[in-house]
Amino acid sequence: MPMSTMPFVYEETVTYRQVTDCSPLIRRVVADNASAFTYHGTGTYIIGRGEVAVVDAGPADPKHIDAILKALDGETVTHQLVTHTHMDHSPGAALLKQATGAQTWAFGPHGSGRPEPGIVVEEGADHDFAPDHEIRHGDVIEGAGWSAEAVFTPGHTSNHICFCLREENALFSGDHVMGWSTTVVSPPDGDMAAYMKSLHLLLSRDDRVYYPTHGPAITDPETHVRALIDHRRARETQIMAQIDAGTRTIADMVEVMYADVHPRLHPAARRSVLAHLIHMTEAGRVVTDGPPEETSVYRLP
Ligand SMILES: [Zn+2]
Repeated sequence: MPMSTMPFVYEETVTYRQVTDCSPLIRRVVADNASAFTYHGTGTYIIGRGEVAVVDAGPADPKHIDAILKALDGETVTHQLVTHTHMDHSPGAALLKQATGAQTWAFGPHGSGRPEPGIVVEEGADHDFAPDHEIRHGDVIEGAGWSAEAVFTPGHTSNHICFCLREENALFSGDHVMGWSTTVVSPPDGDMAAYMKSLHLLLSRDDRVYYPTHGPAITDPETHVRALIDHRRARETQIMAQIDAGTRTIADMVEVMYADVHPRLHPAARRSVLAHLIHMTEAGRVVTDGPPEETSVYRLP
């Protein structure tokens, strides 16, 4: 179930643990871990032919790793690219490395993109992952017949990186831009200001197509990203209106703003509203006593 009603939610049918051809250089295998946050499940991408890279081996699910290996019957995995450290993305990398020896390229461990890096204890985060190769914005990783440029896109997590397959002008957008819903931005590692900046960064690029981890390919990237920016701006306007009308706590705001979303998603929605309020407090548009928290009382300045 999406966190919001978006104009561009695409439907797709998925066959689990089967390989699908996406383009001449890109294949996808979807893990059987569908949930309210993963849509149909984690889409693991395979780049290249013969000697390949794997993008986000996914959850630590041996059956999913087997499905990837089966898809690669006779081919060699030379690289693993990891977009970020959430449990549905990075833990499978260790299993795939055991099976193939393929090393990992990523920004760094969970929380490493924060201004003061440190362990950020969060549900859903993979604290065991540490890449073999730490990469930065603009770095290019080269394999047999393919090359991937790192596009640093913090916000969803502080260490989120997208990868652009330069031969096809195709961006693996991870969870930064998804094909079925808006992403979750949950503090403290999630950062709304960084997320908005990372959306604008994508607008300055000319990628032809996005392959997100969750949901189908996005073939109209610019329209899609602009809609995501508008959606977040609309949320901020909504929050301002709520405070103005006397609704001053996050729990109360979510009851109204997410009335059409299942209550089991309300805890995530509260984190998202908190992310907005941290951003709005920093900008001076909203004030509260002390640091902005989920339990704080907010008012207009
Ligand atoms: Zn994620």
